[in-house]
Amino acid sequence: MKYPQVQNFVNGQFRPVTTNHTLTITSPTDGRELALLHCSTATELDEAVQAARAAFPAWSKTPIKERVQVFFRYKYLLERDLQELAELVSEENGKTLGEAIAEVEKSIELTEFATSLPQLVTGEVLEVSKGVECRTEHVPLGVVASIVPFNFPNMVPNWTIPNAIALGNCLIIKPSEKVPLSLAKLASLLKEAGLPDGVFNIVNGDSEVVNAICDHPDIAAVSFVGSTKVAKIVYQRATQSLKRCLALGGAKNHLLVLPDAKPDMTAQNVVASMSGCAGQRCMAASAMVAVGQVDHIIDKICAEASKVIPGKNLGAVISRESKEKIERYITEAEQQGARILIDGRNTVVEGKENGCYVGPTVIDHVKPDMAVAREEIFGPVISILRTNTVDEALAIENANPYGNAAAVYTQNGGLARYIIEKANAGMIGVNIGVPVPREPFSFGGWNESKFGVGDITGKSSIEFWTKLKKSTTKWNPEAGVNWMS
Ligand code: NAD
Repeated sequence: MKYPQVQNFVNGQFRPVTTNHTLTITSPTDGRELALLHCSTATELDEAVQAARAAFPAWSKTPIKERVQVFFRYKYLLERDLQELAELVSEENGKTLGEAIAEVEKSIELTEFATSLPQLVTGEVLEVSKGVECRTEHVPLGVVASIVPFNFPNMVPNWTIPNAIALGNCLIIKPSEKVPLSLAKLASLLKEAGLPDGVFNIVNGDSEVVNAICDHPDIAAVSFVGSTKVAKIVYQRATQSLKRCLALGGAKNHLLVLPDAKPDMTAQNVVASMSGCAGQRCMAASAMVAVGQVDHIIDKICAEASKVIPGKNLGAVISRESKEKIERYITEAEQQGARILIDGRNTVVEGKENGCYVGPTVIDHVKPDMAVAREEIFGPVISILRTNTVDEALAIENANPYGNAAAVYTQNGGLARYIIEKANAGMIGVNIGVPVPREPFSFGGWNESKFGVGDITGKSSIEFWTKLKKSTTKWNPEAGVNWMS
């Protein structure tokens, strides 16, 4: 295997795990075995929690202006090792190198935001009556945990690492067992950046570790990013043991395309949104609602999709099971009467016959009750539903249980504004297919795409990773005058 056995990172050291439950990490692009992972149990988690608890008093008392110095250095190290980090992401996740570079660049941007936290966490103070002051300050929570998915092995961990730690917490992160290698490299960079031992810890494993995180009495807060099914499990279990929890789930993002949309820009944008990272993005366009006569745009979408070549500008999906599942969705839609305009099934890339590739797929005349219209597919597939009016299109968008993102393509500002108001999603794009808000704005969906209050990045994350201390003090200013004299 190319990489050594995956290890936990506890108290500043890599530590082997010796349990019998093992998983093999394989490359989605060619099926090569990359590494072996031994799944941790509640025992290994507890070792990490104890290390984090021990580190917390000193770290939380370190002034934030000093804490963020680590992240200035970490940002530089991410920049220095960008190519290596991106190659690792591409190797274990299967996305193209270009996409992996963009992912690491986003991690750099997230870290840059964390370095500005001292400017954003200032509290408030007011003299509420003579000599009486009320004051607030943001105080770290203690030991906190973050559970992450496979689709962004570098970026999603960096949604939480810089902010949670710069705000004074000690963090335990559980990587996706499908892509654990990127996080190990990030641990080395955090150490090189001067982060004290125990402040950042990695515990590898599967659902057993997740359950142990939710149950552990010394973990104060849990952030989760992954599918809605597991987000619900984690949210219920963590809050059951009285923890603060923010759980981001899956998505089914609708793009509304109106007849006045700019054809070339819309087609390029729709295809980039549905096929980028092989459709394995929670912000990917998954359903397109064509309002009125937009056949000329659909023709261009097909032409654009045909330029997306598996193994060149389209990466692999994460696993063979995933490829088969995506292909089943396409076949079922075809059997139910939808028309496959571009078919990505049975894709084999020459020289990478063991890779998990699905070609770009455009399905037209999809009905709202079909599974491809309702469920998250997580592959490079767009389902086109036809409507006559904007309100019908909005009704389809509103009926889906998710609410991560939605977008509209139009040149009519009034209609765009109307759709922004009526769409039932947390992040809306106008002529933008992947409307990720950039920091200091925060990232987070609605409905079944997120459980818990607030968002995971940007300013909103400050509320999640800290608690407010309110103090009311009374000093008689006259006493000072008397003392002086
Ligand atoms: P997943 O839910 O299968 O796994 C996420 C994490 O949960 C992993 O660390 C995994 O080990 C753990 N896990 C899996 N099954 C579990 C169980 N039964 N009990 C406890 N823990 C369990 O998600 P994934 O396949 O790794 O990632 C893809 C999903 O993540 C998609 O649904 C995607 O939309 C979603 N996602 C959402 C966002 C967002 O911001 N809303 C961002 C990225 C990915």
